[in-house]
Amino acid sequence: MSQAGNKVREAKVALYRKQGTIHAKTTRGRFNSLRWGMVWLTQIIFYGTCWLSWRVGDTTRQAVWFDIAHEKLYLFGWVFWPQDALLLAFVLILAATGLFLVTALAGRLFCGFACPQTVYTSLFVWIETQIEGDHLARLKLDQAPASPRKLLLKSIKHGLWLLFAVWTAISFVGYFTPIRELLPALAEGAVGPWESFWLIFYAAFTYVQAGLAREAVCQHMCPYSRFQGVMFDAATRTVSYDVLRGEPRSHRQAASPRTAQPGACIDCGICEQVCPTGIDIRDGLQYQCINCGLCIDACDQVMLKTGAAPGLIRFMSEEEHQGTPPRSGMRQRPRVLIYAALLLVTTLLMAWTLQTRPTLRAEILRDRGALLRESPEGRIENAYTVKILNLAEQPRRVHLTVSGLPGLALVGRSDWPLEPSSILVLSVTVAAPAEGPLRGSQPIRFHVQDDDGSSEPISENSTFILP
Ligand code: SF4
Ligand code: SF4
Repeated sequence: MSQAGNKVREAKVALYRKQGTIHAKTTRGRFNSLRWGMVWLTQIIFYGTCWLSWRVGDTTRQAVWFDIAHEKLYLFGWVFWPQDALLLAFVLILAATGLFLVTALAGRLFCGFACPQTVYTSLFVWIETQIEGDHLARLKLDQAPASPRKLLLKSIKHGLWLLFAVWTAISFVGYFTPIRELLPALAEGAVGPWESFWLIFYAAFTYVQAGLAREAVCQHMCPYSRFQGVMFDAATRTVSYDVLRGEPRSHRQAASPRTAQPGACIDCGICEQVCPTGIDIRDGLQYQCINCGLCIDACDQVMLKTGAAPGLIRFMSEEEHQGTPPRSGMRQRPRVLIYAALLLVTTLLMAWTLQTRPTLRAEILRDRGALLRESPEGRIENAYTVKILNLAEQPRRVHLTVSGLPGLALVGRSDWPLEPSSILVLSVTVAAPAEGPLRGSQPIRFHVQDDDGSSEPISENSTFILP
């Protein structure tokens, strides 16, 4: 490539890098297909799941529903309560460990293929491309002076972005207020203040993050990019440029004919033009790189055109850069083994917790007001508040008993019906004979059992005060 050609190329790259929005060139290839496959998959799940229904007995409810008002999470056949916080902790540990494992194996794969920021930016850029044209047309339009055409195109684009952001916000809020109730309420202008707040906030958030901020989020705001290196080891494979094969770049060799054979890189700059974060992968590992692989797709096409083997840019480890063959097994990678072991242990613990999770729970509170009282029959009575939680979506009948002291018994009724997914709060009195050798505070146990035996009986400790 001539010096004049180089200047043109450098000016073009500077245009991509420094002047306003990055308008990345579209490319094709396996990583681009995988990226769009992930966009489709994640968005079908996100926009579709809130429309799924789940039948329970004679009623139907939304299959995935965060019912904040009643502190419940409905997840298909399960109902989770605040008492299931341990499961939430497992989910968070699983998500973090899974992310660590993937990062240790292949860098920021999550960022490139599944991060909402990447996914929504791709969708917003796709809309922009349909309205304003390819990357060069968009660059030209940005730099053009204000005109009716520019105003029209920008208005259509921002209008479509806003519509898309509003629909995204409706879908998001639809996980908290059943979407089949939310839409009619919206049509009638009868949504509550919290729903209104979240609709406006989430729509504005999507519009700003994916439409306006775009790659700046990955470059400057994302904390994950700053600490991802901690999870890497020398065998972590990330998108890299093969310096040994690529250098010296063709134009440099031409400028200095005495150097060795030219490398495979023809210095076309296309890898940089397709990069959504506007970096040059040939500068080495950079925190802005989201490992999307688009530069691999672009460079492979250049290699095919020049008759060279593809893979000048590919997933490579630090060891491969230094000419060491890739490790064959995982045994030499303690970091990966630790993450994998943590993932396995957490998955097993979570499955076990889910499997053995009781559908009936009880909480006992001694009434603080009066320690004890004596009944007209001469028995000692203590008062308690008993909360019985039916975590199942079926109605049931429960039976309450007490044990721990001779002659200890409930006063009054001992069984109650329970509504599906409900909490029954009872004020109960327990009585024991006044005569006997025991005095002061004595341990006792409450037992709750459902009549159809669908749940294991549960027992809770408490105390009984004797004179
Ligand atoms: S696309 Fe390939 S050949 Fe072109 S500049 Fe990048 S690395 Fe070099
Ligand atoms: S350098 Fe390559 S892999 Fe990294 S963000 Fe840019 S295009 Fe994606």
